[in-house]
Amino acid sequence: MGMLKVMLWRSNGAVGRVFRRRYRVLAIESSCDDACIALLDRKDGKTTVIDQVKSTLNSVAAGGVIPTEAHGFHQYQIASQASQFFQKHKISSQNSPDLICCTRGPGMVGSLSAGLQFAKGLSVAWDKPLVGVHHMLGHLMIASLTSESQTNPPPRFPFLSLLCSGGHTMLVLSESLAKHQVLVNTVDIACGDALDKCARKLGLKGNMLGKELETFVNSFSKEELDEFTKIKTHTRDNPFNFQLKLPMRSPKHPRNAESVQFSFASFLSTLDAYSPPPGMEKSKVTKFLAFKVQQKIFEHIVDRIKLAVDKNETLFANVNDIVLSGGVASNSTLRRMLKDGLNDKMKRPNLNFHFPEIALCTDNAIMIGVAGIEIYENLNVVSDLSITPIRKWPLDQLLDVDGWTSRS
Ligand code: AMP
Ligand code: ZN
Repeated sequence: MGMLKVMLWRSNGAVGRVFRRRYRVLAIESSCDDACIALLDRKDGKTTVIDQVKSTLNSVAAGGVIPTEAHGFHQYQIASQASQFFQKHKISSQNSPDLICCTRGPGMVGSLSAGLQFAKGLSVAWDKPLVGVHHMLGHLMIASLTSESQTNPPPRFPFLSLLCSGGHTMLVLSESLAKHQVLVNTVDIACGDALDKCARKLGLKGNMLGKELETFVNSFSKEELDEFTKIKTHTRDNPFNFQLKLPMRSPKHPRNAESVQFSFASFLSTLDAYSPPPGMEKSKVTKFLAFKVQQKIFEHIVDRIKLAVDKNETLFANVNDIVLSGGVASNSTLRRMLKDGLNDKMKRPNLNFHFPEIALCTDNAIMIGVAGIEIYENLNVVSDLSITPIRKWPLDQLLDVDGWTSRS
């Protein structure tokens, strides 16, 4: 890439650089079961999405993503998918994008490896720089991609993000592009995983079972929803003989009540251990369980975030922006509950909630491009060609891994 003119510019509360030259970015995401390729256009500090393709491994029969299957899927998929995408956009060695961004981790090593090796190959063939992106940084930064229809300005540091996906559930405080603090994390499985497993247990079918669960619950009549809402489940003393408590609230473990952590494994074990009272209509039981499980999983999330605020109010004192991202973030009930819960707790008149559009909440390559551009322009680094996938990459160690080199 030739010399790029830069100028200092103040954005998101940090001094950054804005590139005056227009350039194109190819982004690749392959951390789990989605094979995604995106092409972005960057001009004067503004990013425009040109196109994205995404294909997903079908794991319905397997009942979950099997890492070796996902590895095979990406190996099978990536080159042919990219080839079609390149033909469509007339991308070639004579007309190659100027920057290649690819997910480096965290994720399944086989899946990551397929995308990363392909990206390295393109970087060598086209002689263009490569940025190995942290997948979660993509989820965090996606809200900064503004569209013309959006009324909200992008989040400004310090901002708070709730990342709820199939593999992660964390509340993150981002003080700057490179400084992120995970305030609440899950001690067992992710909320998306819990939603998927509970939905499967209830007999729902599909690839995105959390979404199927939402669709199922949203199909209930108002009378059913009112009835289920009124029934309390902190004891078994209800017509369904069903007990579902918020995790970490058990009187048997009083110290857990103060634990600023998420835990979702008990939702599944509760469903596993449950048998309905004899004679009860099966479809009604299924509806009731679906409603309660989704409701309580989200209640637990909001409950622990409120506790985190209670425990360290000064940490949140300058936060005015809250991003909800990850696949589960597209759930309208979670959006409403998070908004109500935090407005109530933080009592801030100017709290801005950012709910990226649904296609940008689930895994996608656009977010990898957006985060890669930020790293390239504002952290001034690229990745060297020896980088390997990182299965576990803590978000607070973004720059503490090998392979970053100064851009110039
Ligand atoms: P991700 O890991 O970010 O790609 O997100 C995938 C996860 O999000 C899976 O667990 C899905 O079941 C879940 N998910 C997607 N859409 C929804 C939704 N509308 N409600 C709840 N969970 C969802
Ligand atoms: Zn993700």
